[in-house]
Amino acid sequence: MVIFKHVVDLRKYMSALRTKSAKVGFVPTMGALHEGHVSLIRKAKTDDTFVICSIFINPTQFNDKSDFEKYPVTTEDDIEMLINAGCDVLFLPSVDEMYPGGATTVRGYDFGFLEQTLEGVQRPGHFHGVGQVVGRLLEIVEPHYLYLGQKDYQQCMVITMLVDLMGLKGLNVVICPTVREQDGLAMSSRNRRLTETQRSRAGVIYQCLVSIESKRESSHFSIVQKECMDLLSTKGFEVEYVALAEADTLQPADDYLKDKAMVALIAAKIGGIRLIDNLVF
Ligand code: AMP
Repeated sequence: MVIFKHVVDLRKYMSALRTKSAKVGFVPTMGALHEGHVSLIRKAKTDDTFVICSIFINPTQFNDKSDFEKYPVTTEDDIEMLINAGCDVLFLPSVDEMYPGGATTVRGYDFGFLEQTLEGVQRPGHFHGVGQVVGRLLEIVEPHYLYLGQKDYQQCMVITMLVDLMGLKGLNVVICPTVREQDGLAMSSRNRRLTETQRSRAGVIYQCLVSIESKRESSHFSIVQKECMDLLSTKGFEVEYVALAEADTLQPADDYLKDKAMVALIAAKIGGIRLIDNLVF
């Protein structure tokens, strides 16, 4: 695996690669890699792409300073995982490399409704930062395939819109299933920060999602929502939302809709650590 820290070197390498007409698969991450990230690399390998992974903890997408400061950094382990997964190139830029003239000089995008609901409400400015960093990375890497995890459902929709706004018609966005721990907890870099007790309770988020799905024929969402909020609170979670929406648009739904794909989404904090998850049905 080749590691690049500078945009100019990566660009040079990529343009040489393109003359060999390789298909490029790109997996952007913030590091502290786990099996969820590795599943994206593996999918890119299965699609026979030349795989580029980036690790960059993007300051402009953190609305909470302490979340940014405490974000785990495990670069040595990450490199080993990427080599084992068969990743071809790692792009590991600094903040100055990504935002040479400062973050305000990097183009932002308007995601309309998508940044005014759920995560957009809880984390003001978050998707603006996501748009900036992914936009810049896509301009640098120019991939043919972009691999994203369904774990960040709203982010997948925002980035799909970004690809459209940037007019990248040849870029395929591939959304990969959420990889979970045995108790159902969605793998996340932030899980490393949980204490043993918090970790032992965190599977309740997935239990709630499963119960929202399983009661779609027998109950009303408002009832199941209240049950979930109570259960999460009992386990020590501070609930930000337990929501139901149309899967294609993320339009909020008050109750289950019979003929539409739906997504249940949860965001909750335990000990100041914010976890999100979702389930489509
Ligand atoms: P992050 O490093 O958290 O920014 O995530 C980088 C990419 O990995 C994003 O596309 C995430 O959606 C994806 N990802 C994170 N956790 C998981 C997971 N448990 N399963 C599948 N994909 C994931």
